[in-house]
Amino acid sequence: MTRYSAFAVAKEAFRYHTGWGRAWGRPEPKKRYDVVIVGAGGHGLATAYYLGKNFGIRNVAIIEKGWLGGGNTGRNTTIIRSNYLQDPSAALYEKARSLYEGLSQDLNYNVMFSPRGVMMLAQTEHELRGYQRTVHANRLQGIDTEMISPREVKRLCPIMNIDGPRYPVLGALWQARAGTARHDAVAWGYARACSDMGMDIIQQCEVTSVQREGGRVSGVSTTKGDIACDKLGIVVAGHSGVMAEKAGFRLPLESVSLQALVSEPIKPCMDVVVMANTVHGYMSQSDKGEMVIGGGTDGYINYAQRGSYQHIEETVRALVETFPMISRLKMLRQWAGIVDVTGDRSPILSKTPLEGCFINCGWGTGGFKAIPGSGWGFAELMATGQSPLTAEFGLDRFREGRFIDESVAAGVAH
Ligand SMILES: Cc1cc2nc3c(=O)[nH]c(=O)nc-3n(C[C@H](O)[C@H](O)[C@H](O)COP(=O)(O)OP(=O)(O)OC[C@H]3O[C@@H](n4cnc5c(N)ncnc54)[C@H](O)[C@@H]3O)c2cc1C
Repeated sequence: MTRYSAFAVAKEAFRYHTGWGRAWGRPEPKKRYDVVIVGAGGHGLATAYYLGKNFGIRNVAIIEKGWLGGGNTGRNTTIIRSNYLQDPSAALYEKARSLYEGLSQDLNYNVMFSPRGVMMLAQTEHELRGYQRTVHANRLQGIDTEMISPREVKRLCPIMNIDGPRYPVLGALWQARAGTARHDAVAWGYARACSDMGMDIIQQCEVTSVQREGGRVSGVSTTKGDIACDKLGIVVAGHSGVMAEKAGFRLPLESVSLQALVSEPIKPCMDVVVMANTVHGYMSQSDKGEMVIGGGTDGYINYAQRGSYQHIEETVRALVETFPMISRLKMLRQWAGIVDVTGDRSPILSKTPLEGCFINCGWGTGGFKAIPGSGWGFAELMATGQSPLTAEFGLDRFREGRFIDESVAAGVAH
């Protein structure tokens, strides 16, 4: 693999950029792998990458029914933060956030991590108290967050109206080192690094069933034939329930559609991410100038990866009191992804009743921010059978009642 560098770009410029190779291969599946990962989203690719990098397991296939990064990873609004309430979540999301800081260098691929700061607005007394509690918890967890005043909110984001008649801004939970990254680049960077380690990324190939021998996984059937493996990682986000059924177990989650939209590009006017959870809306400005806007999930279970008019209206109506300027913007595009939501709004990173089969799912509306940490921990779980990062996120917590309740931090928010 050619390393990307200023020198390589300059060298290529002399030959009209004809020398660049493919970023990742297009292999046909082999008959057998040590590990098969189903799903080439961010979490699947990151898992494969850390299996190779941290544990030397490189005989790995990542199987994707569509195109890599074409699921939620390429559809999300890219907010990265780690200001969660419970200790296991804070540890996992902070690991991910800190890995994001050096990810471009690690992958030799610019993931455009932009630690521009994320503020979560408190627009009711209840929310204010909730966020104050989170700040105290974050202090104990070693995560750098603070409460800021309405005046500071206005200073950081001048386009905001903090004196709205229904929901005035009473303060905000601010994480200065949180931010955004380019979602496609995260998937592409991991894919290129996996391919460089000799792993096979097999796109346009659906896993149709899971094969077993005596209570142990032995392989998968796919639209490109049968593939044997010693270990299987299921990392398919909104289709986790469907895949689990193929492997013979059930999951405690629901799949719902989550929508987002972007406006026409405008001049830079906002260099922080703002989340307004009381009204269900959040906004940031992309490098292209579009205002990236998201809202809540659809209120019913569905698998439709497309937007709806009612959502544009609902989300823009929610935000317009706080951001009056968006009432004059044209909306350009709208889309949806299928997210898998658990009862305690925390992910599942776990062994399963089928030996050798592991599951990584339940990230709901907020798994993009977790990709490097999730991949790191899940790879360790798959390679060694345990990981301090994933220990609390097992499936058994639902049977034993050890919930990691993040409904305030993750229920609607991203
Ligand atoms: C509109 C929207 C906004 C969001 N905003 C944020 C945000 O701001 N911040 C944040 O942290 N998170 C956000 N999220 C959530 C985040 O996108 C997801 O949690 C995360 O991307 C999940 O990644 P993944 O790798 O698990 O899943 P995916 O990227 O969905 O990858 C799973 C892959 O599995 C493949 N697959 C499924 N079934 C099969 C099969 N049978 N065989 C082979 N392949 C299969 C799919 O095609 C898919 O590519 C948002 C999500 C949406 C939809």
